[in-house]
Amino acid sequence: MGSRYHGRQLLCRAVTLLLEKLRVQHLLQAQAPSAVAGHSTPQHTRAYASIPACNSPCPGGPPAFSFDIDGVLVRGKVVLPEGLEAVRKLTTSEGRWRYPVVFMTNGGGVCEERKAQDLTTWLGVRVTREQVILSHTPMLDLVPELAQRPVLVSGRGDVLNVARSYGFQRVLHTRQLGRAMPAATPFSTYPPDSEEAPAAAHAVAGAALEQPDQAGATGGGEGRGAAGRPPVSPSGSGSGSGGLCPVRDLGLATETHPVDTVLVMTDPDDWYRDAQLICDVLTGAGVPTRSAAEAAAVGAPHVKLVFSNPDLLWANEFPKNRFGQGAFAHMVLSLFGRLTGGCRPSHVTFYGKPNPQPYRLAERLLLTQARQLGLPLPEVPPGVLPFSGMYAVGDNPAADVRGANQAGDPWVSVLVRTGVFQGPGPNCDVDTAQVAVDDVAAAVDAALHHTRYARWHSMR
Ligand SMILES: [Mg+2]
Repeated sequence: MGSRYHGRQLLCRAVTLLLEKLRVQHLLQAQAPSAVAGHSTPQHTRAYASIPACNSPCPGGPPAFSFDIDGVLVRGKVVLPEGLEAVRKLTTSEGRWRYPVVFMTNGGGVCEERKAQDLTTWLGVRVTREQVILSHTPMLDLVPELAQRPVLVSGRGDVLNVARSYGFQRVLHTRQLGRAMPAATPFSTYPPDSEEAPAAAHAVAGAALEQPDQAGATGGGEGRGAAGRPPVSPSGSGSGSGGLCPVRDLGLATETHPVDTVLVMTDPDDWYRDAQLICDVLTGAGVPTRSAAEAAAVGAPHVKLVFSNPDLLWANEFPKNRFGQGAFAHMVLSLFGRLTGGCRPSHVTFYGKPNPQPYRLAERLLLTQARQLGLPLPEVPPGVLPFSGMYAVGDNPAADVRGANQAGDPWVSVLVRTGVFQGPGPNCDVDTAQVAVDDVAAAVDAALHHTRYARWHSMR
């Protein structure tokens, strides 16, 4: 009796799954206007053919999602309609997420809270900062080591304050360094009324070096130097050092307080200035005015160089892809090599996709969300994630696809065609995605279908 009932239950589930599969395939085929318009060949059917049927290490678990932002959910300042559709599929009518979701981007320049607010506005559903992984978010792991060490920060946006919010207490932005010694970058301009003027005052404060906890309390703008120090004028000549090396008044990047680490947190707004100053700091072992020979003579330790993302290209409204931070990194490393007879800096680290740090962080955040959502999670051995699949949806094969493929099970790489990747084939030949679809809405359909399919196979 029991086995007959069990058999009937399985048959019912099989019929339900088959009907669901047919319904989704019909829906996807009906959603391919580009084929009708002749713009491109629809990839959905191929996508289903390419989904691994039941390779999930934990088929009974829920799915989890990681969405890239640029080229997937938005393009430049335009929110893609497929992004809104994808969110509808993953949320309840009350706007609650059905499954764990993170937004993992190689962009940055703002704090995670601010990006979460942007996503909330764009997508019409609440996104928290715990769902946001920016390119520089994994740099939080460096704070225990570098909190009290002099750090030079490069990048556009509010990276100086982002670095401070992470806990780096002795930070200096390349813009401050350039402004302090204008002869170092004669072709750059330094607006006198910079929005980071208060930050410069913090760096000027001598007390900040010895008592970093009080640095934030000095306040004021550049015109109000703290702790009895003279203010740094916009021209850099107001320090009394003749404009040759006023950087000493910043208290950092000096022989007594050389830069320990350079953090490139986003692609900079002035590549000339930052390439020049970073090379100066690297060759001078933390002191931009020092020669390599002088640094070697005193046995100064080498400076560590960290890039937050290696993307050569990214996509915005422009019809062709744009240079990203990876291009800037190439430039800096190439110039350093030319300056040093072919050497490479001793300590160079790349964060951001496809490197492992953001994926490890995503795994922790997604697991926490799954528990907070109250999803039933199967018992798994240590080191195994209780998800049927962690779907990493992205538009950049070299970053999103390669990163997910390298991250291992249960990550599933999903490539869309709304950003960097435009073909010509249905998938990338170099970094081949496990799933290739037209857009993020189709990606969610494919992932949910895959989840049901894996669960069904686990019951057989
Ligand atoms: Mg992208």
